Amino acid sequence: MSIDSPSQDSAQHVFAQLKQSFASDRTRPLQWRQTQLRALQTMLKQHAEELITALNQDLGKPQTEAWTSEIGFLLTDIKHTLRHLKKWMRPQKVSTPIIAQPGKSAIYPDPLGCVLVIGAWNYPLQLTLAPCIAALAAGNCVLLKPSELAPATSGLIKKLIPRYLDNTAIAVIEGEKAQTTELLKQPWDHIFYTGGEAVAKIVMRAASEHLTPVTLELGGKSPCLVERSADIEVTARRIVWGKWMNAGQTCVAPDYIIVEECVKDALLKALKKEIRAQYTRQPLDNADYGKIVNQRHYDRLCGYLEHQNVYFGGETQADTQKIAPTIILDPASDSSIMREEIFGPLLPVLTTTQISESLNFVRQRAKPLALYLFTNDTKLERHVVNTVSAGSICVNDIMMFMTNANLPFGGVGASGMGQYHGKAGFEQLSHQKAVMIRKFWLDVAVRYAPFSSFKLTLLKKLL
Ligand code: NAD
Repeated sequence: MSIDSPSQDSAQHVFAQLKQSFASDRTRPLQWRQTQLRALQTMLKQHAEELITALNQDLGKPQTEAWTSEIGFLLTDIKHTLRHLKKWMRPQKVSTPIIAQPGKSAIYPDPLGCVLVIGAWNYPLQLTLAPCIAALAAGNCVLLKPSELAPATSGLIKKLIPRYLDNTAIAVIEGEKAQTTELLKQPWDHIFYTGGEAVAKIVMRAASEHLTPVTLELGGKSPCLVERSADIEVTARRIVWGKWMNAGQTCVAPDYIIVEECVKDALLKALKKEIRAQYTRQPLDNADYGKIVNQRHYDRLCGYLEHQNVYFGGETQADTQKIAPTIILDPASDSSIMREEIFGPLLPVLTTTQISESLNFVRQRAKPLALYLFTNDTKLERHVVNTVSAGSICVNDIMMFMTNANLPFGGVGASGMGQYHGKAGFEQLSHQKAVMIRKFWLDVAVRYAPFSSFKLTLLKKLL
């Protein structure tokens, strides 16, 4: 389905075609779902080079990052889904109460219908196609709207998807605010949105017009807590990897660090050493280090640097839109860098006497998408895992939970609603349909009028 000049008509038209396709039941069989997932797999493999080039154009992504966090991530998700899909689709039998005997009960995962996927720009391929994998696995029709802020990747998705997937059931519309607004007017069966909080509210408001359920994959400030018993060298290495991948433009990157006073200097020294080891002394000229997506975000991030105590980094390069890995010491809690999600290569480091005392600081703020804790203290680890609310918690590493397709991914509170990846995505985009099948041959009259005290006594026992 190729829409060159998206307008209200085309949004309506594409939606109507997808609706019609879903009504034909073509997307329900296991075989159709497997065929689409395999076609997506082939597309990613055959066009890996082109996709890597597009990701490099949009975000200066180095080849290794483009492979691991985008193409490789998707291939793993598809493989996992293909391996388990038949089992996930099986109706789950449940017991039937005596009042409904003879009868059988089961839960059938049922496709929702037509799903609108609105992708974000920071992992423009992964964040558009991972929800697509879930939607197809669950037997839905899907419309993909990649982010316009990553135009090379968006264009390639638009070009490749129709060549590989069932054009009657999967469509791509490129565009920005105007096109997305038109798409949001259609009565979708589900909207899967990844991006910031402000647009999430627009999406939810539009969805409410049709009582359309939404998945909102948002962001926020993900804290990273470093306690004195942590192995500081490994901690620093992992933080540098997770924070400065994609130049810090990762929804689950550590937004700020809280470190115990007694290991603060050691951590700062180790971070500095690791930044140099991973990105050299000239990170701005390093092909392994990404760029900021556009001028607006570059200016926003440069603004955060003003009036801050820069411990390390701070160099900026306007023509390439690059900002060096930067560590900022003890910013005021009311400064914009501590109020807003940074979503870039700046890392504030705050100090506390004891991590356990800083937990209130975390709890008083919006629930984070991810929370990181570095410690060898199992009591503290248990305490944090059991008492702090966050989309995901990762102890002694950054972002590695994303590599486990058995773990659901999603936020809580302001960091989002709904989950996906692996089975969670399949379930998110399926309706758990309750089915009871009865027989005619036994029809006890106890529940029918005329009622009597005997019937009531019996019903009380049976129900
Ligand atoms: P963005 O600018 O790419 O916007 C997201 C989508 O919303 C785009 O497709 C865009 O076209 C659409 N959009 C923009 N304005 C709109 C409007 N007025 N009406 C309708 N649609 C509109 O994304 P962003 O907001 O810059 O993304 C950054 C945020 O996304 C951060 O907060 C980050 O943490 C979050 N994020 C979350 C995840 C996750 O998986 N939870 C992943 C990546 C990013």
